[in-house]
Amino acid sequence: MKKLLLSITALLVITFIHAQKTYIWCGTLIDGISNEPEKNMTIVVEKNKIATIESGFSKAGAADKVIDLKTKTVMPGWIDMHVHLEFETSPKRQLEGFTYNPADYAYQSVQFAEVTLMAGFTTVRDLGGSGVNISLRNAINKGWIKGPRVYTAGKAISTTGGHIDPTNGYRKDLMGDPGPFDGVANGADECRQAVRQRYKDGSDLIKIAASGGVLSVAKSSSNPQFTEEEIKAIVETAKDYGFKVAVHAHGAEGMKRAIRAGVNSIEHGTLMDDEAIALFKQYGTWYVPTLTAGAAVADSAKIPGYYPALVTPKALEIGPQIKATLAKAYKAGVKIAFGTDAGVYKHGMNWLEFGLMNEAGMPIMETIKAATIYAADLLGEKDKLGSIEAGKLADIVAVDGDPLKDTKVFGKVVFVMKDGVVYKQ
Ligand SMILES: [Zn+2]
Repeated sequence: MKKLLLSITALLVITFIHAQKTYIWCGTLIDGISNEPEKNMTIVVEKNKIATIESGFSKAGAADKVIDLKTKTVMPGWIDMHVHLEFETSPKRQLEGFTYNPADYAYQSVQFAEVTLMAGFTTVRDLGGSGVNISLRNAINKGWIKGPRVYTAGKAISTTGGHIDPTNGYRKDLMGDPGPFDGVANGADECRQAVRQRYKDGSDLIKIAASGGVLSVAKSSSNPQFTEEEIKAIVETAKDYGFKVAVHAHGAEGMKRAIRAGVNSIEHGTLMDDEAIALFKQYGTWYVPTLTAGAAVADSAKIPGYYPALVTPKALEIGPQIKATLAKAYKAGVKIAFGTDAGVYKHGMNWLEFGLMNEAGMPIMETIKAATIYAADLLGEKDKLGSIEAGKLADIVAVDGDPLKDTKVFGKVVFVMKDGVVYKQ
Protein backbone atom coordinates (compact mmCIF):
# COMPACT_ATOMS: atom_id res chain seq x y z
CA MET A 1 0.00 0.00 0.00
CA LYS A 2 2.79 2.35 1.02
CA LYS A 3 4.63 1.51 -2.18
CA LEU A 4 1.57 2.23 -4.28
CA LEU A 5 1.07 5.61 -2.60
CA LEU A 6 4.71 6.46 -3.23
CA SER A 7 4.51 5.63 -6.91
CA ILE A 8 1.29 7.66 -7.27
CA THR A 9 3.07 10.60 -5.62
CA ALA A 10 6.03 10.16 -7.95
CA LEU A 11 3.70 10.08 -10.94
CA LEU A 12 1.99 13.27 -9.77
CA VAL A 13 5.34 15.00 -9.34
CA ILE A 14 6.45 13.92 -12.81
CA THR A 15 3.14 15.09 -14.31
CA PHE A 16 3.51 18.40 -12.53
CA ILE A 17 7.03 18.99 -13.82
CA HIS A 18 6.25 17.58 -17.24
CA ALA A 19 2.79 19.03 -17.83
CA GLN A 20 1.62 17.85 -21.22
CA LYS A 21 2.16 20.40 -23.94
CA THR A 22 0.56 20.61 -27.35
CA TYR A 23 2.81 21.29 -30.34
CA ILE A 24 0.95 22.79 -33.28
CA TRP A 25 2.97 22.51 -36.48
CA CYS A 26 1.90 25.36 -38.77
CA GLY A 27 2.68 25.31 -42.51
CA THR A 28 1.76 29.00 -42.66
CA LEU A 29 1.25 31.19 -39.62
CA ILE A 30 -0.57 34.53 -39.59
CA ASP A 31 -0.09 35.81 -36.06
CA GLY A 32 -2.44 38.82 -36.05
CA ILE A 33 0.44 41.28 -35.58
CA SER A 34 2.89 41.01 -38.52
CA ASN A 35 1.87 41.97 -42.03
CA GLU A 36 3.62 38.95 -43.56
CA PRO A 37 2.77 35.32 -42.83
CA GLU A 38 5.56 33.03 -41.63
CA LYS A 39 6.32 29.55 -42.98
CA ASN A 40 6.99 26.38 -40.98
CA MET A 41 6.39 27.43 -37.39
CA THR A 42 5.42 25.66 -34.17
CA ILE A 43 3.04 27.02 -31.54
CA VAL A 44 3.53 25.39 -28.15
CA VAL A 45 0.40 25.41 -26.01
CA GLU A 46 0.49 24.71 -22.30
CA LYS A 47 -2.84 24.39 -20.49
CA ASN A 48 -4.99 27.19 -21.91
CA LYS A 49 -2.16 29.50 -22.98
CA ILE A 50 0.35 29.93 -25.75
CA ALA A 51 3.74 29.15 -24.18
CA THR A 52 6.16 29.79 -27.06
CA ILE A 53 6.29 30.24 -30.83
CA GLU A 54 9.24 28.50 -32.47
CA SER A 55 10.73 28.46 -35.98
CA GLY A 56 10.55 25.11 -37.77
CA PHE A 57 8.62 22.05 -36.62
CA SER A 58 9.80 21.53 -33.05
CA LYS A 59 10.14 18.02 -31.65
CA ALA A 60 7.65 17.21 -28.93
CA GLY A 61 8.44 15.20 -25.79
CA ALA A 62 7.03 11.70 -25.33
CA ALA A 63 4.23 12.98 -23.11
CA ASP A 64 3.32 15.83 -25.44
CA LYS A 65 0.73 16.00 -28.17
CA VAL A 66 1.38 17.04 -31.79
CA ILE A 67 -1.18 18.61 -34.08
CA ASP A 68 0.00 18.55 -37.67
CA LEU A 69 -1.22 21.58 -39.65
CA LYS A 70 1.80 21.62 -42.01
CA THR A 71 -0.44 22.05 -45.05
CA LYS A 72 -2.78 24.62 -43.44
CA THR A 73 -2.85 28.34 -42.65
CA VAL A 74 -3.04 28.98 -38.91
CA MET A 75 -4.39 32.17 -37.32
CA PRO A 76 -5.60 33.53 -34.00
CA GLY A 77 -9.25 32.55 -33.32
CA TRP A 78 -11.55 35.03 -35.00
CA ILE A 79 -13.64 37.55 -33.08
CA ASP A 80 -17.06 38.70 -34.30
CA MET A 81 -17.94 41.94 -32.51
CA HIS A 82 -21.62 41.86 -33.45
CA VAL A 83 -23.79 38.76 -33.23
CA HIS A 84 -27.20 37.81 -31.82
CA LEU A 85 -26.97 34.20 -30.68
CA GLU A 86 -30.58 33.92 -29.48
CA PHE A 87 -32.28 34.07 -32.88
CA GLU A 88 -31.90 33.67 -36.61
CA THR A 89 -33.58 35.33 -39.58
CA SER A 90 -36.88 33.81 -40.72
CA PRO A 91 -40.11 35.13 -42.22
CA LYS A 92 -41.71 33.95 -38.93
CA ARG A 93 -39.48 36.09 -36.69
CA GLN A 94 -42.25 38.49 -35.67
CA LEU A 95 -44.56 35.60 -34.77
CA GLU A 96 -41.84 33.93 -32.70
CA GLY A 97 -41.98 36.97 -30.41
CA PHE A 98 -45.46 35.85 -29.38
CA THR A 99 -45.03 32.07 -29.40
CA TYR A 100 -41.51 31.42 -28.08
CA ASN A 101 -40.80 30.98 -24.38
CA PRO A 102 -37.38 31.93 -22.97
CA ALA A 103 -36.56 28.19 -22.95
CA ASP A 104 -37.21 28.02 -26.71
CA TYR A 105 -34.71 30.82 -27.26
CA ALA A 106 -32.27 29.10 -24.94
CA TYR A 107 -32.39 25.73 -26.75
CA GLN A 108 -32.25 27.49 -30.11
CA SER A 109 -29.19 29.50 -29.09
CA VAL A 110 -27.28 26.32 -28.19
CA GLN A 111 -26.99 25.26 -31.84
CA PHE A 112 -26.19 28.81 -33.00
CA ALA A 113 -23.37 29.07 -30.47
CA GLU A 114 -21.86 25.74 -31.58
CA VAL A 115 -22.09 26.54 -35.29
CA THR A 116 -20.35 29.89 -34.63
CA LEU A 117 -17.45 28.25 -32.79
CA MET A 118 -17.06 25.56 -35.47
CA ALA A 119 -16.88 28.32 -38.11
CA GLY A 120 -13.70 29.56 -36.41
CA PHE A 121 -15.15 32.34 -34.26
CA THR A 122 -13.73 31.69 -30.82
CA THR A 123 -14.98 34.98 -29.33
CA VAL A 124 -18.12 37.04 -29.98
CA ARG A 125 -19.93 40.08 -28.62
CA ASP A 126 -23.64 39.32 -28.34
CA LEU A 127 -25.20 42.74 -28.89
CA GLY A 128 -28.67 42.10 -27.60
CA GLY A 129 -31.43 39.60 -27.01
CA SER A 130 -34.04 38.74 -24.39
CA GLY A 131 -31.43 38.22 -21.67
CA VAL A 132 -31.15 34.48 -22.32
CA ASN A 133 -27.78 35.37 -23.87
CA ILE A 134 -26.42 35.89 -20.33
CA SER A 135 -27.34 32.32 -19.33
CA LEU A 136 -25.93 31.15 -22.67
CA ARG A 137 -22.56 32.75 -21.85
CA ASN A 138 -22.62 31.12 -18.41
CA ALA A 139 -23.49 27.69 -19.84
CA ILE A 140 -20.57 27.92 -22.29
CA ASN A 141 -18.19 29.03 -19.52
CA LYS A 142 -19.30 26.11 -17.34
CA GLY A 143 -18.64 23.69 -20.20
CA TRP A 144 -22.28 22.58 -20.41
CA ILE A 145 -22.41 23.40 -24.11
CA LYS A 146 -19.97 24.27 -26.90
CA GLY A 147 -19.70 27.86 -28.03
CA PRO A 148 -17.43 30.85 -28.43
CA ARG A 149 -16.23 33.01 -25.56
CA VAL A 150 -19.20 35.38 -25.22
CA TYR A 151 -19.21 39.01 -24.14
CA THR A 152 -22.89 39.87 -23.91
CA ALA A 153 -24.88 43.09 -23.68
CA GLY A 154 -27.87 41.17 -22.28
CA LYS A 155 -30.85 43.29 -23.29
CA ALA A 156 -30.00 46.30 -25.42
CA ILE A 157 -31.25 49.78 -24.48
CA SER A 158 -33.52 51.97 -26.59
CA THR A 159 -35.97 54.87 -26.26
CA THR A 160 -39.76 54.39 -26.33
CA GLY A 161 -40.61 53.23 -29.83
CA GLY A 162 -36.88 53.20 -30.63
CA HIS A 163 -35.11 50.56 -32.67
CA ILE A 164 -34.80 48.04 -29.81
CA ASP A 165 -38.06 48.75 -27.92
CA PRO A 166 -39.15 45.10 -27.57
CA THR A 167 -42.85 45.87 -28.18
CA ASN A 168 -42.54 47.83 -31.43
CA GLY A 169 -45.30 46.94 -33.88
CA TYR A 170 -47.40 45.06 -31.29
CA ARG A 171 -51.16 45.46 -30.88
CA LYS A 172 -51.81 48.31 -28.43
CA ASP A 173 -53.03 46.18 -25.50
CA LEU A 174 -49.93 44.00 -25.79
CA MET A 175 -47.49 46.90 -26.08
CA GLY A 176 -47.65 48.05 -22.48
CA ASP A 177 -45.10 50.63 -21.45
CA PRO A 178 -41.73 48.90 -21.04
CA GLY A 179 -39.15 50.73 -18.92
CA PRO A 180 -35.47 50.54 -17.95
CA PHE A 181 -35.82 46.93 -16.71
CA ASP A 182 -36.81 45.84 -20.23
CA GLY A 183 -34.26 48.10 -21.90
CA VAL A 184 -36.44 51.13 -22.66
CA ALA A 185 -35.20 54.39 -21.17
CA ASN A 186 -36.19 58.05 -21.55
CA GLY A 187 -34.37 60.89 -19.82
CA ALA A 188 -30.98 60.77 -18.12
CA ASP A 189 -32.26 59.14 -14.90
CA GLU A 190 -33.87 56.20 -16.67
CA CYS A 191 -30.78 55.84 -18.83
CA ARG A 192 -28.63 55.50 -15.71
CA GLN A 193 -31.12 53.03 -14.24
CA ALA A 194 -31.11 50.94 -17.43
CA VAL A 195 -27.30 50.66 -17.30
CA ARG A 196 -27.36 49.69 -13.61
CA GLN A 197 -30.02 47.07 -14.35
CA ARG A 198 -27.66 45.54 -16.97
CA TYR A 199 -24.99 45.32 -14.24
CA LYS A 200 -27.48 43.54 -11.98
CA ASP A 201 -28.44 41.19 -14.84
CA GLY A 202 -24.80 40.23 -15.44
CA SER A 203 -24.14 41.92 -18.79
CA ASP A 204 -20.54 42.45 -19.93
CA LEU A 205 -21.14 45.63 -21.90
CA ILE A 206 -23.86 48.06 -22.94
CA LYS A 207 -25.59 48.24 -26.32
CA ILE A 208 -27.88 51.11 -27.23
CA ALA A 209 -29.76 52.21 -30.35
CA ALA A 210 -28.93 55.83 -31.16
CA SER A 211 -30.87 55.82 -34.43
CA GLY A 212 -33.70 53.98 -36.11
CA GLY A 213 -32.94 50.58 -37.61
CA VAL A 214 -33.93 48.26 -40.41
CA LEU A 215 -35.59 45.28 -38.75
CA SER A 216 -37.67 47.10 -36.11
CA VAL A 217 -41.35 47.48 -37.02
CA ALA A 218 -41.14 51.27 -37.09
CA LYS A 219 -41.01 53.84 -39.84
CA SER A 220 -37.54 55.38 -39.77
CA SER A 221 -34.27 53.53 -40.31
CA SER A 222 -32.12 56.47 -39.36
CA ASN A 223 -33.71 59.17 -37.17
CA PRO A 224 -31.83 60.11 -33.96
CA GLN A 225 -33.40 58.31 -30.96
CA PHE A 226 -31.54 59.51 -27.86
CA THR A 227 -30.58 63.04 -26.92
CA GLU A 228 -26.88 63.68 -26.44
CA GLU A 229 -27.56 64.25 -22.74
CA GLU A 230 -29.16 60.80 -22.47
CA ILE A 231 -26.22 59.09 -24.20
CA LYS A 232 -23.80 60.97 -21.93
CA ALA A 233 -25.69 59.64 -18.90
CA ILE A 234 -25.38 56.12 -20.31
CA VAL A 235 -21.65 56.44 -21.02
CA GLU A 236 -20.84 58.00 -17.63
CA THR A 237 -22.76 55.29 -15.77
CA ALA A 238 -21.28 52.55 -17.94
CA LYS A 239 -17.79 53.73 -16.95
CA ASP A 240 -18.69 53.31 -13.26
CA TYR A 241 -19.27 49.61 -13.93
CA GLY A 242 -16.40 49.01 -16.37
CA PHE A 243 -18.78 48.62 -19.31
CA LYS A 244 -17.92 49.58 -22.88
CA VAL A 245 -20.76 51.04 -24.95
CA ALA A 246 -21.64 49.74 -28.42
CA VAL A 247 -24.05 51.84 -30.46
CA HIS A 248 -26.40 50.87 -33.23
CA ALA A 249 -26.65 53.80 -35.66
CA HIS A 250 -27.46 54.19 -39.34
CA GLY A 251 -28.27 57.91 -39.22
CA ALA A 252 -25.50 60.52 -39.08
CA GLU A 253 -27.04 62.67 -36.33
CA GLY A 254 -27.48 59.78 -33.85
CA MET A 255 -23.95 58.62 -34.66
CA LYS A 256 -22.44 62.06 -34.01
CA ARG A 257 -24.25 62.47 -30.69
CA ALA A 258 -22.98 59.04 -29.60
CA ILE A 259 -19.38 59.69 -30.62
CA ARG A 260 -19.33 63.06 -28.85
CA ALA A 261 -20.78 61.37 -25.76
CA GLY A 262 -17.73 59.06 -25.71
CA VAL A 263 -19.07 55.64 -26.78
CA ASN A 264 -16.63 52.90 -27.86
CA SER A 265 -18.06 51.63 -31.15
CA ILE A 266 -20.60 52.52 -33.81
CA GLU A 267 -22.33 49.54 -35.42
CA HIS A 268 -23.49 49.68 -39.10
CA GLY A 269 -22.77 53.43 -39.48
CA THR A 270 -24.49 53.45 -42.86
CA LEU A 271 -25.21 57.14 -43.43
CA MET A 272 -21.90 58.37 -42.04
CA ASP A 273 -21.01 61.78 -43.53
CA ASP A 274 -17.69 63.65 -43.59
CA GLU A 275 -18.40 65.37 -40.27
CA ALA A 276 -19.08 61.98 -38.66
CA ILE A 277 -15.85 60.56 -40.10
CA ALA A 278 -13.92 63.49 -38.63
CA LEU A 279 -15.52 62.80 -35.23
CA PHE A 280 -14.63 59.07 -35.42
CA LYS A 281 -11.01 60.08 -35.90
CA GLN A 282 -11.04 62.81 -33.27
CA TYR A 283 -12.51 60.54 -30.57
CA GLY A 284 -10.79 57.30 -31.65
CA THR A 285 -14.19 55.59 -31.94
CA TRP A 286 -14.30 52.15 -33.56
CA TYR A 287 -16.48 51.36 -36.56
CA VAL A 288 -18.06 47.89 -36.88
CA PRO A 289 -19.60 47.77 -40.37
CA THR A 290 -21.69 44.50 -40.47
CA LEU A 291 -21.62 44.21 -44.27
CA THR A 292 -22.95 40.64 -44.24
CA ALA A 293 -26.15 41.80 -42.57
CA GLY A 294 -26.53 44.68 -45.02
CA ALA A 295 -26.28 42.31 -47.98
CA ALA A 296 -28.55 39.68 -46.38
CA VAL A 297 -31.43 42.02 -45.46
CA ALA A 298 -31.43 43.54 -48.96
CA ASP A 299 -31.66 40.00 -50.42
CA SER A 300 -34.39 38.78 -48.06
CA ALA A 301 -36.42 41.97 -48.65
CA LYS A 302 -36.81 40.93 -52.29
CA ILE A 303 -38.77 37.84 -51.18
CA PRO A 304 -42.44 38.95 -50.95
CA GLY A 305 -43.76 38.84 -47.37
CA TYR A 306 -40.39 37.93 -45.80
CA TYR A 307 -40.40 41.05 -43.60
CA PRO A 308 -43.31 43.09 -42.16
CA ALA A 309 -44.44 45.80 -44.62
CA LEU A 310 -42.74 48.63 -42.68
CA VAL A 311 -39.38 46.83 -42.77
CA THR A 312 -39.06 45.91 -46.48
CA PRO A 313 -38.38 49.40 -47.92
CA LYS A 314 -35.85 50.13 -45.15
CA ALA A 315 -33.95 46.90 -45.87
CA LEU A 316 -33.84 47.69 -49.59
CA GLU A 317 -32.65 51.23 -48.93
CA ILE A 318 -30.06 50.73 -46.15
CA GLY A 319 -28.62 47.26 -46.87
CA PRO A 320 -26.79 47.98 -50.13
CA GLN A 321 -25.20 51.23 -48.85
CA ILE A 322 -22.98 49.90 -46.06
CA LYS A 323 -20.16 48.62 -48.28
CA ALA A 324 -19.58 52.07 -49.80
CA THR A 325 -19.59 53.53 -46.28
CA LEU A 326 -16.86 51.13 -45.18
CA ALA A 327 -14.82 51.98 -48.29
CA LYS A 328 -15.01 55.67 -47.39
CA ALA A 329 -14.32 55.17 -43.67
CA TYR A 330 -11.37 52.83 -44.28
CA LYS A 331 -9.79 55.24 -46.75
CA ALA A 332 -10.17 58.06 -44.23
CA GLY A 333 -8.35 56.04 -41.56
CA VAL A 334 -11.26 55.22 -39.22
CA LYS A 335 -10.47 52.28 -36.90
CA ILE A 336 -12.35 49.19 -38.14
CA ALA A 337 -13.28 46.07 -36.16
CA PHE A 338 -14.91 42.97 -37.63
CA GLY A 339 -18.62 42.43 -36.93
CA THR A 340 -21.40 40.81 -38.92
CA ASP A 341 -24.78 41.01 -37.10
CA ALA A 342 -25.09 37.20 -37.29
CA GLY A 343 -28.68 36.19 -36.60
CA VAL A 344 -29.86 38.80 -39.08
CA TYR A 345 -28.45 36.22 -41.54
CA LYS A 346 -27.65 32.52 -40.94
CA HIS A 347 -25.25 31.75 -38.07
CA GLY A 348 -21.95 30.18 -39.12
CA MET A 349 -21.67 32.26 -42.29
CA ASN A 350 -19.84 35.03 -40.39
CA TRP A 351 -16.75 34.42 -42.56
CA LEU A 352 -18.49 36.05 -45.55
CA GLU A 353 -17.62 39.39 -43.93
CA PHE A 354 -13.91 38.91 -44.80
CA GLY A 355 -14.71 38.86 -48.54
CA LEU A 356 -17.13 41.79 -48.33
CA MET A 357 -14.61 43.90 -46.38
CA ASN A 358 -12.00 43.06 -49.00
CA GLU A 359 -14.41 44.11 -51.78
CA ALA A 360 -14.80 47.43 -49.93
CA GLY A 361 -11.08 48.03 -50.34
CA MET A 362 -9.50 46.56 -47.21
CA PRO A 363 -6.46 44.34 -47.86
CA ILE A 364 -7.18 40.78 -46.68
CA MET A 365 -4.48 40.98 -43.99
CA GLU A 366 -6.27 44.06 -42.59
CA THR A 367 -9.60 42.17 -42.50
CA ILE A 368 -7.85 39.42 -40.48
CA LYS A 369 -6.49 42.01 -38.05
CA ALA A 370 -9.97 43.53 -37.79
CA ALA A 371 -11.21 40.08 -36.69
CA THR A 372 -8.32 39.45 -34.31
CA ILE A 373 -6.06 42.06 -32.75
CA TYR A 374 -8.24 45.12 -33.50
CA ALA A 375 -11.36 43.38 -32.20
CA ALA A 376 -9.45 42.35 -29.06
CA ASP A 377 -8.46 46.00 -28.62
CA LEU A 378 -12.08 47.16 -28.84
CA LEU A 379 -13.07 44.44 -26.35
CA GLY A 380 -10.43 45.74 -23.94
CA GLU A 381 -8.80 42.27 -23.95
CA LYS A 382 -5.70 42.94 -26.06
CA ASP A 383 -3.45 41.40 -23.42
CA LYS A 384 -5.34 38.08 -23.56
CA LEU A 385 -6.81 37.72 -27.06
CA GLY A 386 -6.32 38.55 -30.74
CA SER A 387 -2.84 37.29 -31.62
CA ILE A 388 -0.54 34.28 -31.56
CA GLU A 389 1.91 35.49 -28.93
CA ALA A 390 3.42 33.91 -25.84
CA GLY A 391 1.19 34.42 -22.80
CA LYS A 392 -2.06 34.86 -24.70
CA LEU A 393 -5.01 32.49 -24.44
CA ALA A 394 -4.76 29.58 -26.85
CA ASP A 395 -7.53 30.53 -29.29
CA ILE A 396 -6.26 29.17 -32.61
CA VAL A 397 -7.93 28.33 -35.93
CA ALA A 398 -6.69 26.92 -39.22
CA VAL A 399 -8.05 26.99 -42.76
CA ASP A 400 -7.36 24.80 -45.76
CA GLY A 401 -5.75 27.05 -48.38
CA ASP A 402 -4.33 30.54 -48.64
CA PRO A 403 -6.85 33.08 -47.36
CA LEU A 404 -4.64 35.94 -48.55
CA LYS A 405 -5.27 34.82 -52.14
CA ASP A 406 -8.93 33.78 -51.92
CA THR A 407 -11.41 34.92 -49.25
CA LYS A 408 -13.57 31.81 -49.80
CA VAL A 409 -10.85 29.96 -47.88
CA PHE A 410 -12.22 31.58 -44.67
CA GLY A 411 -15.19 29.24 -45.10
CA LYS A 412 -12.89 26.18 -44.96
CA VAL A 413 -12.08 25.98 -41.27
CA VAL A 414 -10.41 22.67 -40.43
CA PHE A 415 -9.16 23.32 -36.91
CA VAL A 416 -10.56 25.19 -33.91
CA MET A 417 -8.95 25.50 -30.48
CA LYS A 418 -10.49 27.69 -27.79
CA ASP A 419 -8.85 28.22 -24.44
CA GLY A 420 -6.43 25.39 -25.18
CA VAL A 421 -9.21 22.89 -25.93
CA VAL A 422 -9.56 21.40 -29.44
CA TYR A 423 -13.15 21.60 -30.73
CA LYS A 424 -12.55 20.77 -34.38
CA GLN A 425 -9.75 18.84 -36.06
ZN1 LIG B 1 -27.43 43.74 -34.37
